[in-house]
Amino acid sequence: MARIVVAGSGSVGACIAYHLALLGARDVVLADRAEIASGSTGKAMGGVRQQFSSAAEVRLAQESISFFEKLGAFWFQQVGYLFLATTEAGLADLEERRELQVGLGVPVEQVDPRFVPGLQADDVLRAVFCATDGVADPPALTREVVRRAAELGVDVKERTDAQELERDVLVIAAGAYSGDFGVDLPIRPLARQLLETEPLEGLPDHLPMVVEAESGFHFRRRDDCLRIAMADAVPRWGFEESVDESVFADRLERLAHRYPPSAGTTIARAWAGLYDMTPDAHPIIGPVGDGLYVACGFSGHGFMQSPAVGRAVAEELLHGESSLDLSPYRIARFSEATTFPEDLVL
Ligand SMILES: Cc1cc2nc3c(=O)[nH]c(=O)nc-3n(C[C@H](O)[C@H](O)[C@H](O)COP(=O)(O)OP(=O)(O)OC[C@H]3O[C@@H](n4cnc5c(N)ncnc54)[C@H](O)[C@@H]3O)c2cc1C
Repeated sequence: MARIVVAGSGSVGACIAYHLALLGARDVVLADRAEIASGSTGKAMGGVRQQFSSAAEVRLAQESISFFEKLGAFWFQQVGYLFLATTEAGLADLEERRELQVGLGVPVEQVDPRFVPGLQADDVLRAVFCATDGVADPPALTREVVRRAAELGVDVKERTDAQELERDVLVIAAGAYSGDFGVDLPIRPLARQLLETEPLEGLPDHLPMVVEAESGFHFRRRDDCLRIAMADAVPRWGFEESVDESVFADRLERLAHRYPPSAGTTIARAWAGLYDMTPDAHPIIGPVGDGLYVACGFSGHGFMQSPAVGRAVAEELLHGESSLDLSPYRIARFSEATTFPEDLVL
């Protein structure tokens, strides 16, 4: 049987290796040049949503949700995603996306946002909520997937450059560093940061991920803290993962406006990581040469897609086809001009 080396043990590589083993592959190596989940996976917000603007992304997330649900409430907290629109334009966008999502079977409802204790909603014109969306802990969950993969026989090697290993097939799942393997890939690193408040008393147990539709400002509960994110006004392209403290005051002000019980809190922790952006914000998945396969370019939403991608890639590698349609994600879309932009990148 062919020896498959998976390069990168972030959530994507881990899920591919796990599903390869589940499907019966017996010679699989999962190699990471650093440690398990030490790349973007270890920096992620942990949001899992089906509320996207394109059908392909909705389907990937839907497939993944059933995997997360089977892991149970310890690993995946289904607190929902609440999108808030405060302008007519934002309202129209929410409604257009909701129609697409509902048409694909995602249970997104229009709601009165005051169901969230403490949330300030006087300026909200429309709110939509999907109760089956939720949050997780990406590094912890990825380590668990790797543990299960190892139990099934996957050879896990940390501090190992995958390029140095003998193999019949190399699967490049190296996130923002996937371009290091000599394959020309249209991905660009984009630095993004997360901020975490000090512990706050009385946070609702089921606080959803709250997203302001127009600005993309969003926050979730993480233990007794709130974890906050928002895109930079000027995108920070490049590999430098530095924290920009100049935005802290603005983010705290937005948080206090939307969730007044947080007023007066401070930022206790902040860190930055890399999105591996493609021109249309969809991943690149598929063969790129003899014995070479890629699964990268997840553009800031790869954790939530990794279970579906892991299974589909494993099926395709072992059986030549997958139950999930991977055709929208081929690299050829960039030369054939068949890209289909995903607008909802948070
Ligand atoms: C701030 C931030 C917030 C995010 N929020 C979310 C979110 O809410 N929801 C969501 O779904 N996604 C989110 N993401 C994106 C998400 O983290 C990733 O898309 C997802 O975890 C998949 O990552 P990956 O496995 O492709 O890459 P990574 O996690 O970066 O893993 C790649 C691994 O490859 C290894 N590697 C590199 N070169 C080699 C080599 N030559 N040999 C062996 N190993 C190598 C690296 O060491 C690394 O561990 C966020 C990302 C960031 C930065």
